[in-house]
Amino acid sequence: MSDAPVSAELFARAQRVIPGGVNSPVRAFHAVGGTPRFMVSGNGAYLTDADGRDYVDLVSSWGPMILGHAHPAVVEAVQRAAAKGLSFGTPTIGEIELAEEIVMRVNAAAPGSRRPLEQVRLVNSGTEATMSAIRLARGVTGRSRIVKFAGCYHGHVDALLVAAGSGVVTFGLPDTPGVTGAQSAETIVLPYNDIAAVDACFTEFGADIACVITEAAAGNMGAVAPVDGFNVGLREITARHGALLIMDEVMTGFRVSSAGWYGLDAVDADLFTFGKVMSGGLPAAAFGGRADVMSNLAPAGPVYQAGTLSGNPVAVAAGLACLRAAGADVYAALDRNATTIGRLVSSALDDAGVAHRLQYAGNLFSVFFGDAPVRDFAEAQASETFRYPAFFTAMLDAGVYLPPSAFESWFVNSAMDDAAIERVAAALPHAANAAAAAVRPA
Ligand code: PLP
Repeated sequence: MSDAPVSAELFARAQRVIPGGVNSPVRAFHAVGGTPRFMVSGNGAYLTDADGRDYVDLVSSWGPMILGHAHPAVVEAVQRAAAKGLSFGTPTIGEIELAEEIVMRVNAAAPGSRRPLEQVRLVNSGTEATMSAIRLARGVTGRSRIVKFAGCYHGHVDALLVAAGSGVVTFGLPDTPGVTGAQSAETIVLPYNDIAAVDACFTEFGADIACVITEAAAGNMGAVAPVDGFNVGLREITARHGALLIMDEVMTGFRVSSAGWYGLDAVDADLFTFGKVMSGGLPAAAFGGRADVMSNLAPAGPVYQAGTLSGNPVAVAAGLACLRAAGADVYAALDRNATTIGRLVSSALDDAGVAHRLQYAGNLFSVFFGDAPVRDFAEAQASETFRYPAFFTAMLDAGVYLPPSAFESWFVNSAMDDAAIERVAAALPHAANAAAAAVRPA
């Protein structure tokens, strides 16, 4: 493995003042081994680390950077907004424009005259969006139980840190200390993609269930798209029992199409959550839905929710600039890059004789080692994840930055040019051989 002396030194220093040396666990490389790279800049499809090495970035800041790094339109919008003042704690015009853009995009994908998204409330993170959406669902229905799916991650909300996929799985903390039994007692966890289990659950507990929250397409156990009829089945069952459906589009929103997963599969939720792309890379997120649901939120209604920096003018400017720059050409490039890279990965693994499944959820994708299709979390866990660290490390050494966990989706950006794709292609044969040589732990 090539070393990264400056990153290693920074990591040692970071660990003295930051728990584990990172501000979000998966960044620490525990699941893949080696030294986390401290990045100093990003430009287009590339990141540069503190040792001066550059990488084709297939993480894209875990989703937000669909345009690539330091996109001129976003940087300029941020600079312009910052020069006018960083935060006012008052309403601003930008908040209206961002809310209008989000509402317009989703409703434009709705068949007929449906308007599933009429109002949004801006918050600061995806975690805050899902936490607030659940509070609103409980407030509106007067019920306490919630249903989530194993392997779906919705942020580090206490009640949702149960069988929560990716980072939590990587660290083996399915029930993290610090979340009390009382906080998770009202969370029912069901297998993803199993509509019969949802039906049975509602038959037993339906009168107490406030909402079902699901990733619109799961990206946090690797990429696992909903099987045909799953999301629509959730819509039908929740409606029948008077519960709300929350589609978490924090990962998929405005990435897999201009209207997110809704643009690919228009199932009307009662509430949607967004983050990542709509922030342009600064801290911003949102939750929203029909006006009759959202009007229950303070100050229009009784369900309290607030935030000092919510709708921050600089974050809003970044998000708006990112969305406005993301036209049909950008979505075509994202789809094309995802397909191209996926094909390259598959053919290298085939050449090395490594059984694998390349799974897509729109332009989100990931590689599961092994023969079996993955439809839920149990199947994801049964895949040959022991092959991933060697694969990851070989790619990193060759200048390609993959997600540092087998359970994460890969995120392309539209800035990838031929040189970036060629670098990925050149790195793959060695990485595929490394995956082939990996040995299952005893
Ligand atoms: N929901 C989904 C589907 C996510 O993928 C994430 C983060 O990865 C979140 C919610 C939480 O978002 P944040 O990390 O901004 O709190």
